[in-house]
Amino acid sequence: MNFKMYADIIIPDTKTDFFTYRLKDEHISEITPGRVVVVPFKNKKVKGVVYRTKKECELQLPEIKWVEEILPEDISTLPTLIKLAEWISQYYFSPLSETIKLFFPPKTLERETKEYRLRQQNIESKDPLIQYFKKRYPRWISLKTVLNNFGEAARRKLEKLVRGGIIEEREKIYTRKEKEFRVYPVTTRSIPHNPTPAQKEVLRKFKEKISHKPSTFLLFGATGSGKTMVYSWIMKEFVESGMSVIVLVPEISLTPQITDFFLRIFGDMVTFYHSALSDAERRWIFTRVRKGEKRVIVGPRSALFLPAPQLGLIVVDEEHDTSYKEEERTPCYNARDVAVFYGNLLNIPVILGSATPSLESFYNATAARKYTLLELKERIPGYSNPTIEIIDMKEEKAPAGISIHLLDEIKKTIESNKQVMLFLNRRGFSPYLICRDCGYIMKCPHCSVGLVYHKKEGVLKCHLCGYKAKIPDICLKCGSPNLKLMGVGTQKVEEVIKNLFSNIQIARMDVDAVSKKGMVPRIYEDFYHGKLKILVGTKMLGKGFDFPNLGLVGVINADIGLGMPDFRAEERSFQLLYQVAGRIRKGGKVIIQTHNPESRAISTIKKFDYRAFVLNELADRKKYGYPPYRRLTSIEIEGRDLNKVIEFSQTIFNLLEKSKKQEVELLGPASCPREKIRNKYRYRILLKYKKYENLNATLRVLKEIKIPTNFTLKVNVDPLDLM
Ligand SMILES: [Zn+2]
Ligand SMILES: [Zn+2]
Ligand SMILES: [Zn+2]
Repeated sequence: MNFKMYADIIIPDTKTDFFTYRLKDEHISEITPGRVVVVPFKNKKVKGVVYRTKKECELQLPEIKWVEEILPEDISTLPTLIKLAEWISQYYFSPLSETIKLFFPPKTLERETKEYRLRQQNIESKDPLIQYFKKRYPRWISLKTVLNNFGEAARRKLEKLVRGGIIEEREKIYTRKEKEFRVYPVTTRSIPHNPTPAQKEVLRKFKEKISHKPSTFLLFGATGSGKTMVYSWIMKEFVESGMSVIVLVPEISLTPQITDFFLRIFGDMVTFYHSALSDAERRWIFTRVRKGEKRVIVGPRSALFLPAPQLGLIVVDEEHDTSYKEEERTPCYNARDVAVFYGNLLNIPVILGSATPSLESFYNATAARKYTLLELKERIPGYSNPTIEIIDMKEEKAPAGISIHLLDEIKKTIESNKQVMLFLNRRGFSPYLICRDCGYIMKCPHCSVGLVYHKKEGVLKCHLCGYKAKIPDICLKCGSPNLKLMGVGTQKVEEVIKNLFSNIQIARMDVDAVSKKGMVPRIYEDFYHGKLKILVGTKMLGKGFDFPNLGLVGVINADIGLGMPDFRAEERSFQLLYQVAGRIRKGGKVIIQTHNPESRAISTIKKFDYRAFVLNELADRKKYGYPPYRRLTSIEIEGRDLNKVIEFSQTIFNLLEKSKKQEVELLGPASCPREKIRNKYRYRILLKYKKYENLNATLRVLKEIKIPTNFTLKVNVDPLDLM
């Protein structure tokens, strides 16, 4: 070939979108967007991902280096996913070099994966390194093993031997077949063969719509309306015609029904891509998906980025769940919204499912007419709405946070041989240690939150940074010895209940109780089969558990979420209460303890009517200009020196004020409600706007400034966490 070809290569962690390299003739036919390559970078060889190829290059030839090697196709991603990466980068203001990391299993692009062996065994040499290889011929030895045995100096020696043609090298990505997924042995449940009339209607509407044009659907279905089966029937058609399907779930271990059903329906086709897998297991799944051997891909948000060829459908279950949103690292993407864009890019349908859709999705599927609404109003036979009773705690005696009335109901339920779930979204024993004399609440020295007492370990813990401390003898502020533990966490509820019901089995399910692997399935099983009578837990209980013999759900304190300084507080509280109440199948009761019976979430939960709640809430959002009517982006500035953080935030604010488009409202800078986390002070500027282009134009100015190294500046588009 007599023309020159170049490739733009994305190199992780460089804070730059891409670097341009020249292509050797023999590489030109093989190179496609998404291929992983080895390139020289700052005197090192690093891995990068091909962004695009081109025939022109602005740089002068001597400056430009060559792509040295193309790695096997197994570990490459697909060109369409590079397009998706490009969109995420632009929409969420994150360089490609950060975004690209979402698309590969951990360490695939970072770790040193070379391995070596002698070209011929019959070489004569006294060199210990060559002797070492000779003994092991024809096995390949990894770089890591060589360095472990011979030290860091062996690296250069190896390179020399490779150049001299004595040793050959190759790139090897280690994979390991995943350990079998632990299935909940609740396979007694039969899989329904025929849809109910309501489900049939939904299936018909779906087919009718996609026969004209694929689109995004909101499957709005009450808990117990059979959403999982509707997904399965739809998925089956895609899988049988040779296509792949991705199903996102908030957390696999908490959605036993989906995993159980999918395994039984799709067998070997299914793969679960989840956080308990090792890196090598993740890479194994990656390669199987890439080859089209695994075509039903189930997992949390990271599963969306697996290279599924012939993708035909994306399902996002529990689409309102906040775990789909990355809030810590850039890109701060929402997997649900990325899924919708991905669907449009591929021209395939996307189904967002929920019993309590986010206000954004509900609005998009109704007034805004962006999505198609599919509604399953009725619960399937064997399910009916629970009776909901609200207890005003202002008028109740409740020594340990549990009213006499709720205790009575627990007793009655147990006596009638039914089971009880007690829900409290606060782990630990007591959330406050307070001084009775001056009112001071013990705080974490590194974060601006109170310390929570954990009784078993006998320590105060910070739930944000993990800091631990013994209970002090005296108040840190006034020196008084008059300290008192206040408030109730799941551990305390468990203890109180255990003391009152000493002859029955009780368990707790929260992050602390199930940190050991396999605990969730064990508790699930024991509760399912009736060995456990009472289960105390956090919102982990609300996700996807379905127990036939559950007679009572008690919500210990419905006010925790309501008190958050966040415009979504009512929405979240309602969703949580609805999900927890939805655990009841038939003829059961839900008792909600609250100090705010008049709040919207609590006064409307009684009717178990999500639509009614949403319509009222949307009216407020419209009035005050919040999503979905106007959009939000949060700019978060962090640093160790409070005054400098304030000063720098003000500088950024002033810059934005000058560059901002007219409709953009700038709010702040103000300290975040959690002002300090891990010794870093946090300030926020909020942008409110209607048109994304205006945000884009306003934030362009950020690209021109250099962020001093002692600050971090994070752009969070469509944030869900404003704490
Ligand atoms: Zn009652
Ligand atoms: Zn004090
Ligand atoms: Zn802390």
